[in-house]
Amino acid sequence: MIVARTVADVRAALDGRRDGTVGLVPTMGALHAGHLALLAAARERCDTVVMSLFVNPAQFGEPADLNGYPRDEQRDLEAAREAGVDVVFAPPAAEMYPPGYQTWIDVTELGATLEGEHRAGHFRGVATVCLKLFNAVRPDLAFYGQKDAQQVAVLRRMVADLNLELELVVVPTVRDADGLALSSRNARLSPEERARALALPRALATGDPETARAILDSSGIDVEYVAVAPFDPPTLAAAVRVGTTRLIDNVPLEPRKEES
Ligand code: AMP
Repeated sequence: MIVARTVADVRAALDGRRDGTVGLVPTMGALHAGHLALLAAARERCDTVVMSLFVNPAQFGEPADLNGYPRDEQRDLEAAREAGVDVVFAPPAAEMYPPGYQTWIDVTELGATLEGEHRAGHFRGVATVCLKLFNAVRPDLAFYGQKDAQQVAVLRRMVADLNLELELVVVPTVRDADGLALSSRNARLSPEERARALALPRALATGDPETARAILDSSGIDVEYVAVAPFDPPTLAAAVRVGTTRLIDNVPLEPRKEES
């Protein structure tokens, strides 16, 4: 497994591998079984699997959230190796955003609702870093989790609007046995908070925004939003705070209509 720190190095690592399919799995590390499902899907469909490992400062609002993000590169590299990754692209922040950096991708409408409304600038950071990763790696396929449904909707829009030649592959949300969607943020929940957080998947499983809100309200969870999002397919999505931990989750309400 090659570990590349610069765009030039990741391009060099992929030289000679362009005859086969190249798959990209973007991550911010702190790998869990959700990330491993993406890597497994990529391994199955692609000749070369590239995983990016980059905690993207541009998509964080509060500095405390960025600084407190869990980082354990050695453990992540070991997990990537075990998952059969060929190339890890793990650049320092200055490689992605050197001094003088000033170009941003803004998916104006889809990026401004729901998560975008509560996390101003988040999707600008996501879309920008993903386009930069696509340009560095030039993947045929890029793998994303349904867990971040709005991220998928925003990136599909960007791929269509900017005529990018790649296919986005969406992998179903991986959950713990109790129903809670896996997230690196779950580690911040106390046992009592975690028990309370189980109301989130339970509420979304009803498929109905009013019922879902009633369940969340009666569980002592602060609701930021719970709504049917106008994605393809329509998706019941929610963001909540359990104590100081922010959690998001969603369930698609029907099968997807369009293939991108
Ligand atoms: P992150 O490292 O949080 O940026 O996530 C990297 C990728 O893993 C994103 O495409 C996420 O949607 C995906 N992901 C995170 N958690 C899960 C999960 N529980 N199930 C499936 N995919 C996930």
